[in-house]
Amino acid sequence: MRVLIVEDEKSLVDIIKKGLEEEGYAVDVAYDGEDGLFTAENEPSDVIVLDIMLPVIDGMTILKKIRKAGVKTPVLMLTAKDTVMDKVSGLDSGADDYLTKPFHFEELLARLRALIRRGSEVNASVVEIGDLTVNIATHEVRRGGKDVLLSAREYSLLEYMAVNRNKVLSRTLLSEHLYDHDFDLDSNVIDVFINRIRNKIDRGFNIKLIHTIRGAGYMIKE
Ligand code: CA
Repeated sequence: MRVLIVEDEKSLVDIIKKGLEEEGYAVDVAYDGEDGLFTAENEPSDVIVLDIMLPVIDGMTILKKIRKAGVKTPVLMLTAKDTVMDKVSGLDSGADDYLTKPFHFEELLARLRALIRRGSEVNASVVEIGDLTVNIATHEVRRGGKDVLLSAREYSLLEYMAVNRNKVLSRTLLSEHLYDHDFDLDSNVIDVFINRIRNKIDRGFNIKLIHTIRGAGYMIKE
């Protein structure tokens, strides 16, 4: 999953970015409103963390503009203020959730997970594909009742596929949602990760869950 952070407080960005990357998220950062607006409209983010008080263009204006432009990506607004009026006007402008500074990183994580779920067709925090379960809240993966240990990157790829189960996902799409803008895209990387995940969840099972769709990409389905 790929998160865009639009926030001008560098120290806060550093903490959030590091924490999210440790959880396996790909993170793009914009430090002012102009860059934030451009990135929100042009990069395929799964969720946007948007500060209100920003240089050049404020967060509320960015939100209105991207919604008007048809960007449906879930948006979590960050604000130092917590007055009822700010929340009302933010939600009216198309924000999906709100977090008042200062906040605990764990709360940010939980809210981002909820927003990503809401943006997909998955409603529960545990996605089931046959006898495979992917717990989006705890990152626990089980196949046939047994724990499967995955690296953060492997987990991210599996989670993205699980949330988008039964859909053909191209290598380009997968790499766009797993890596940030600065990553030098090489779609072979996706093949390498798919092989690793296959070894861990499909090997030894008669029913394979990860399918290669020739010329198109990959799909996870029962
Ligand atoms: Ca700010």
